[in-house]
Amino acid sequence: MNNSPRSVRGMHDWLAEKCADAERLERCARAIFSCFGYGEIRTPIVEELGLFARALGETTDIVEKEMFLLSARDSSQAPEWVLRPEGTAGVVRACLEHKLLQPGTIQKLFYMGPMFRAERPQAGRYRQFVQLGAESFGNAAPSADAESVVLLYELLRAFGVTGAIVRLNSLGCANCRPRFHAELKQFLESKAQTLCRDCQRRMAKNPLRALDCKKDAEFLSAAPRAADFLCAECGTHHQQFLQFLTAALIPFEESARLVRGLDYYTRSVFEVYASGRDGAQDALAAGGRYDKLVEEFGGYPTPAVGFALGLERVMNFLASQEEKKPPQRQGVFVITLGDAARNEGFAILQELRRAGIVADGVINAQSLKSQMRLANAKLFRWAVLIGENELNEGSLMLKDLEKSEQEKITRTALLEKIS
Ligand code: AMP
Repeated sequence: MNNSPRSVRGMHDWLAEKCADAERLERCARAIFSCFGYGEIRTPIVEELGLFARALGETTDIVEKEMFLLSARDSSQAPEWVLRPEGTAGVVRACLEHKLLQPGTIQKLFYMGPMFRAERPQAGRYRQFVQLGAESFGNAAPSADAESVVLLYELLRAFGVTGAIVRLNSLGCANCRPRFHAELKQFLESKAQTLCRDCQRRMAKNPLRALDCKKDAEFLSAAPRAADFLCAECGTHHQQFLQFLTAALIPFEESARLVRGLDYYTRSVFEVYASGRDGAQDALAAGGRYDKLVEEFGGYPTPAVGFALGLERVMNFLASQEEKKPPQRQGVFVITLGDAARNEGFAILQELRRAGIVADGVINAQSLKSQMRLANAKLFRWAVLIGENELNEGSLMLKDLEKSEQEKITRTALLEKIS
């Protein structure tokens, strides 16, 4: 066992139960995305290396140290591609490539799929994880910011996450942000001695990033607040955003230190936490407005807002809330005894499955005891036994494994008995 292969650290196999849980959430999400008018988009897992530096910013954690780089087999070549660390950049790239963002159009898209970050694996932080994301293009109004948050909140509610809380902030726009940056830079420079090495390095290029720093959190509480520097337009936008959320009964808190890790955000940014649990690790989802990204990628100026939700984070949270229920027995296990009964047993299996009933059976020469053991181990509700006698009589023995009862039934009564 010791030298058997293992999965890469931070990348996990999903066994049947987890797949079923994920599928339930994904199905539920599809229905909600559709109600909100979002259509699906699937983009490749591999993108050009330059895409993310251009979208997220050179000094972001993701671009600086968390991307899995890919090069062709020839290791003398520099990496050309990257496993996508997030969804937005690829979606914007695809929209431009397929000319989906013409002036004046509204485009609302959702995606679901694996993302990859070379982070240090820890609880709730993986190197491969699934994000469900939504991007809305073309609406600059605060109603679009609010719709994005409401959609996210509805998804979480439908998943069974109760009491989620939205934290939000406004980062301002190209007009008002420079003044905030300048003040923040000045503040950071005055504390330069106490800043961690990362922040010292980033201070010059992107002072905003320092606010995100966990190490320096304590003394950064005295840092200037973006909200105090908003221009009149950004201030009004923010107030209207909050009014829409209030009207939609979404519980939220304003959070002056929330800046998000990526460069592309303008105005609204938000994160959603499960109540009673905070700390960066526990954000279930996050997003914001990014009005400049499409233009920076060479498209028409197109306002945009979106979010990404971490599926594993939601599943971990739901699992921590769930009371352990006793496992439910379901379906039919077909047991055959003797050579002659096997064809009939195989036909019964097919008939049950075609009727949409969970059914299984090994249909081989194993003993009755070992077939019964399989039926119980796999938690089947019913066992159907067919041997030579039953074959001749056109009957079956039906065992209810939950109630430990059995009865002889006619072959034709099977479907009716078990449904
Ligand atoms: P981000 O793209 O960093 O804004 O993250 C959006 C959401 O994706 C987070 O709130 C998490 O739920 C999830 N997420 C981000 N990074 C990871 C990770 N390394 N492992 C698991 N989930 C993650």
